[in-house]
Amino acid sequence: MAADIRTFPCLNDNFGYLIHDPATKATASIDAPEAGPIVKALEREGWKLTDILITHHHGDHVGGVAELKQKYGCRVIAPHDKKARIADVDARVGNGDVVKVGSLLARVLETPGHTLDHISYVFDTEKALFAADTLFSIGCGRVFEGDYPMMWDSLLKLRALPDDFRLYCGHEYTASNVKFALTVDGDNPALQARAAEVTRLRADNKPTIPVLLGEEKKANVFLRADDPAVAQKLHMKGASAADVFGELRERKNKS
Ligand code: ZN
Ligand code: FE
Repeated sequence: MAADIRTFPCLNDNFGYLIHDPATKATASIDAPEAGPIVKALEREGWKLTDILITHHHGDHVGGVAELKQKYGCRVIAPHDKKARIADVDARVGNGDVVKVGSLLARVLETPGHTLDHISYVFDTEKALFAADTLFSIGCGRVFEGDYPMMWDSLLKLRALPDDFRLYCGHEYTASNVKFALTVDGDNPALQARAAEVTRLRADNKPTIPVLLGEEKKANVFLRADDPAVAQKLHMKGASAADVFGELRERKNKS
């Protein structure tokens, strides 16, 4: 039986995600921005929360953990890095670990850069990538704790996943990411197509997520920092991919 995935808004622009295993009735929340909308989504489906899979320590990803743990007694999985203090954690995971949600398996990829503790969860059988604040549609997370080469390496790990995987990211930032991307990569037909789609979805108040990773690889300029054509657009011919990536990220910060 295939897993059920639910997507819903939390806080201002965070996504809430539930992944449910019909075989065992196990249900995981990927991060917990706030308890209210997660409880509502669970009650709507008649599901009970068994696990919370945390990606990184930022408040907009862990704010609901304490309340949900109290209510459901669920297991809380968090990144290895203990410097990032996250309360109520039952197990710590890192690169290559596999987390079981009922009969579903989530593979852990360490994807530092946005924070040093950031991890992503890959459900290979479900072809689902939960990348939180590392990879957004047509963008990527701000590099707060790591550096540009580290963040670029993390993006390469995610780009290596198959094209038919779906990206579930941490925030609904796609429209603003598209606006910036068009300023550097406006002649990219894949970006133009995504821009039109995003305009349509947002006009209908629909989420822009999930999106196929294969489409992202073509349309997201931050995943193409090693493409000589992108370096050329930035007048950085011959520069390293990490430097091109850093220049893109800095321009986005100022946009
Ligand atoms: Zn964050
Ligand atoms: Fe966030």
